Amino acid sequence: MDMKTQDIAMIGAGIGGLAAAIALAQKGAQVTVYEQASALGEVGAGLQISPNGVAVLEALGLREAAAPLANAPEAVVLRDYRGAQVARLPLGAAATHRYGRPYWQFHRADLLATLEAGARARGVKLVFGARLKKADAGGLIFENGARIAPSCVIGADGVRSTLREQVFQGRPVEFTGQVAWRGLVPAARLPGGLFENAAQVFMGKGRHLVAYPLRGGSMINFVAVEERQAWADEGWNIPDDAQNLRQAFAGFASPVRQLLDAVEETFLWGLFAHPVLPKWTEGNIALLGDACHPMLPFLAQGAVMGLEDAYVLAQCLAAGADVASGLQAYEMARKTRCSRVQKGAARNAWSYHLRQPLFRGAAHKALSILPGAALLKPFDWLYAHDVTAG
Ligand SMILES: Cc1cc2nc3c(=O)[nH]c(=O)nc-3n(C[C@H](O)[C@H](O)[C@H](O)COP(=O)(O)OP(=O)(O)OC[C@H]3O[C@@H](n4cnc5c(N)ncnc54)[C@H](O)[C@@H]3O)c2cc1C
Repeated sequence: MDMKTQDIAMIGAGIGGLAAAIALAQKGAQVTVYEQASALGEVGAGLQISPNGVAVLEALGLREAAAPLANAPEAVVLRDYRGAQVARLPLGAAATHRYGRPYWQFHRADLLATLEAGARARGVKLVFGARLKKADAGGLIFENGARIAPSCVIGADGVRSTLREQVFQGRPVEFTGQVAWRGLVPAARLPGGLFENAAQVFMGKGRHLVAYPLRGGSMINFVAVEERQAWADEGWNIPDDAQNLRQAFAGFASPVRQLLDAVEETFLWGLFAHPVLPKWTEGNIALLGDACHPMLPFLAQGAVMGLEDAYVLAQCLAAGADVASGLQAYEMARKTRCSRVQKGAARNAWSYHLRQPLFRGAAHKALSILPGAALLKPFDWLYAHDVTAG
């Protein structure tokens, strides 16, 4: 299909939407991104991008711009809640050697800004303060009354996607029984050397905490997850008193307590998801990223899957005879992999939070005797997958 004839509306300027806008613009399409927020902003939080996601950044021409902003951790270190090392998965040079590309960690705002600059440089138009309200046979209607009828519509509007609700009659999102506190602590507020350059995972009964350095080690990012029966709040991301977080992890090892003692501001997220959608495309409309396959963050792959979707979508559309068949080819190409990652992330929640002390001890012992390379092997299907190859 001649992509130059295509005028594509991207709903949502998250990681998935911006990446897809760039990939489609690379193919020659005219792309406009409609974002409900008045500007790109992010609560302070980190984002891990594994080598399969770096492959897409590279194909979008952003590797050079992203590299100076990225932190490349040496390892993922799994620990029990008392701080004893359970296992060490080598990353750093080992990951680059094994997968051909690095494992990176970003401040989300840095990665979003890189994608925004990349999109603008390729002629993508960004419209802020544009909240999609309705989709019907005539096209799209925004909250401010504006109407458009583009040749193709991509819903990259996240886990609470309006487009999914309007067009795909998806089931409403459900609380997953997990909440996550997120935040950043300036390293200057912590004792020197408290955390090495690694993603540290401290695993306890019904909860775990992940911490890793960002921006050249000047700050430590944390995600602290706790199982809960219900999410009562109206919002799904609320400022919380850091004292609640400290209390939840009071029994954890001293590095965790020292980190949390230094927290001044934190947000609590209710983690929501919905079952795998039976259909991701309808005529000239398709979904990508969290809008069609939201997942728990326990494999750190939600944004990475959005990057993979973005690249594959542009290839399939360009190769399709028409928009509808191009979008169907995209769905076919992505569904199995995304469903597998969704399920894998849910399984990880279970293994991080083992409740039975005997069972937990045995599982940790089994992990501790495996050499690093053997621990990385189970992730090959995920990290070695290169949607940009061939
Ligand atoms: C605690 C936590 C840690 C995580 N860690 C990682 C990690 O390390 N690595 C990783 O790969 N993933 C991680 N994820 C997952 C990742 O954050 C998401 O999968 C990813 O951000 C989804 O990107 P997206 O572009 O699909 O949607 P979003 O980032 O949600 O973007 C959707 C955009 O659409 C806009 N929008 C919504 N509705 C409308 C509308 N009606 N009209 C116009 N605009 C609209 C929104 O404002 C938003 O800008 C984590 C998630 C959590 C909760």
